[in-house]
Amino acid sequence: MPTFCPKCNAMLPDGLEKCPRCGTKLPKAPGDPNALTPQEWRVLLLEAYKFALLPVGLAFLLGIICLILLYV
Ligand SMILES: [Zn+2]
Repeated sequence: MPTFCPKCNAMLPDGLEKCPRCGTKLPKAPGDPNALTPQEWRVLLLEAYKFALLPVGLAFLLGIICLILLYV
């Protein structure tokens, strides 16, 4: 995907920090291959949330069962 210099509009190959034509500093290329998109972050957080909720839910259930056993 070629980029264009925001100042002189020259077509630039990827990975340049400066425009070779006018010397303008170029913004870093978007889309770090290792970076997660917000969508992926949400899925990841949801999974972590579920994972953290599982022991809490189990402990809660166990408590209820204990209460029932105690009072019945
Ligand atoms: Zn330029």
